[in-house]
Amino acid sequence: MSNLRIGTGVDVHPLEVGRAMNLAGLTWPDETAGCAGHSDGDVAAHAICDALLSAAGLGDLGEVFGTDRPEFAGASGVSLLQEVTRLLLDANWSIVNVSVQVIANSPKIGKRRNEAQAALSQALGGVPVSVAGTTTDGLGLAGRGEGIAAIANALIERH
Ligand code: MG
Repeated sequence: MSNLRIGTGVDVHPLEVGRAMNLAGLTWPDETAGCAGHSDGDVAAHAICDALLSAAGLGDLGEVFGTDRPEFAGASGVSLLQEVTRLLLDANWSIVNVSVQVIANSPKIGKRRNEAQAALSQALGGVPVSVAGTTTDGLGLAGRGEGIAAIANALIERH
């Protein structure tokens, strides 16, 4: 049997005017709205966490970090990624690579792709991370600017 496992994660958060935008391990000071949520609302980081936990069979973000756990209120996406990486290592999994796509009108990921990839990679212990962006051509919650979504895939390997 192969020692490789793949996992998928999706996250969506509502946009709130006046809130700081935290996305893909970066803050985006030019944005007029940011994602609301129990933590910092970084949908890309959360989708990656869920992809990793799913690949390892360790449940999901809600189960591991629970919205009822006050120590994670306002937690940064990067700190959640670091914690998930530690959980995987404890369970004898190493991360091979991660891919995440952000679905949003704004910000445009391409402008800061390298920076986002570096920030997320560092949070995951230096593994390759690719970050992409897309829009929905004006359709749905992302198109109407009501929220931001992200979908991630992660490949991991048992030690
Ligand atoms: Mg989330």
